[in-house]
Amino acid sequence: MDLKDHIRTIPDFPKPGILFYDISTLLMHPQAWRTTVERLGEVIAPYKPDLLVGIESRGFLTAAPLALHLDLGFFMVRKRGKLPGDTLSYSYGLEYGSDTIEIQADAVQPGQRVVVLDDLLATGGTMAAAVHLLQRAGAEVCAAACIVELNFLGGRDKLPVPAHSLLTYD
Ligand code: 5GP
Repeated sequence: MDLKDHIRTIPDFPKPGILFYDISTLLMHPQAWRTTVERLGEVIAPYKPDLLVGIESRGFLTAAPLALHLDLGFFMVRKRGKLPGDTLSYSYGLEYGSDTIEIQADAVQPGQRVVVLDDLLATGGTMAAAVHLLQRAGAEVCAAACIVELNFLGGRDKLPVPAHSLLTYD
């Protein structure tokens, strides 16, 4: 099955000149979505992670079913202020301004092996921030993985861990 047949592109979203890769059409197709989760599983299982991590918000859609498929626990990296209880946070620069992401302080124990997932890797800023936050929390971040990678933006060069993607666009 060619999963690219199920990715839709939408021009000028969220800003004029940006071509948005929309995974909604993949989620709407149960066979294609199941294949996506199974293929991610083949890539991730060899790392033998203890936990999977999803980045808000389409990373949740990616990581949660994969965690169930691999019989692993799952936790969330969220934007500031969304998680209850004690949190660990990490701030990182954007083109204009900055952003802060958080995990719950007890989500991961030092030395636990985690793989972090998002739907798409573009510039790599979001994924790199998540990896840094997890490393700061003491996790051993084995790999980062996504469904779609926009090669021409060079995001994987920002990552201090191996990166995997199922579909690449040049
Ligand atoms: P980056 O930080 O790598 O530049 O951007 C990746 C983040 O923005 C991911 O969390 C991803 O969900 C979102 N994103 C950026 N561009 C797109 C896109 O074209 N399609 C989708 N589905 N998400 C995008």
